Amino acid sequence: MRRKIVAGNWKMNNDLNQSMSLIDSVIENSAGITNCELYLSPSFPFLRDSKIKCEHTNIKVLAQNVSHLEKGALTGDVSCDMLKSININSVIIGHSERRTIFKENDDILLKKIELCVKNNFEIFLCIGEDLESRNSNKEFSVIEDQLNNTIFNLNDINPKKLIIAYEPVWAIGTGLSANPSQAQEMHNFIREKFKVKFSESISDNLTIIYGGSVKPETAKDIFDQPDVDGGLIGGASLKHSDFIKIVKSIT
Ligand code: PEP
Repeated sequence: MRRKIVAGNWKMNNDLNQSMSLIDSVIENSAGITNCELYLSPSFPFLRDSKIKCEHTNIKVLAQNVSHLEKGALTGDVSCDMLKSININSVIIGHSERRTIFKENDDILLKKIELCVKNNFEIFLCIGEDLESRNSNKEFSVIEDQLNNTIFNLNDINPKKLIIAYEPVWAIGTGLSANPSQAQEMHNFIREKFKVKFSESISDNLTIIYGGSVKPETAKDIFDQPDVDGGLIGGASLKHSDFIKIVKSIT
């Protein structure tokens, strides 16, 4: 059976107190949730406190990024070893904000993936087309290229350690969500590509989550699609009640 996952990506929001109190509220309101796995992704300075707070709960803590190199002169970067030393071993790679604002290209992302695999990390790999590509019917070729240039360079993958987050760039933080059939169509396309590249078993076991302006009102219809295994939630994860409603939309 495929893992169902809902992850909250807080991006550069919440100071220490806000982060801790949001975690408290999520813990309090998510006790007994068994329909999916829950992840929260606070900013780097609060990862350790978050991890400690989430011990003995059903919440896992996810880093928003990691360096493509092991160590050295990379001011501002955070390495796999640093994350490991605070017991964090799940990381988001290739978020569209990293790709566009910080110009992280597929070569860099592949290095990050390889390092994460070497360190036995769990990877949330984000892929998604921009509006121009969608409007010119190039969304499938963009996604195929992003896969070919990154994860498809590996000879094998462990589908229990990889989560693909399909996040159309035009839907992130814009209030415009892909409709359920657009999400299903792309998730199915991605799953097929994994089948051709790796195997049917890997493809069947791969968790593919959707991200892009998911709200409590829209979550259920998207999550009900057969190839959608959960969500990566930005804005709506900053309010615990909205986040929990989204989490409860998974059946
Ligand atoms: C995200 O940042 O991954 C995201 C999906 O953001 P939002 O839900 O705000 O669109």
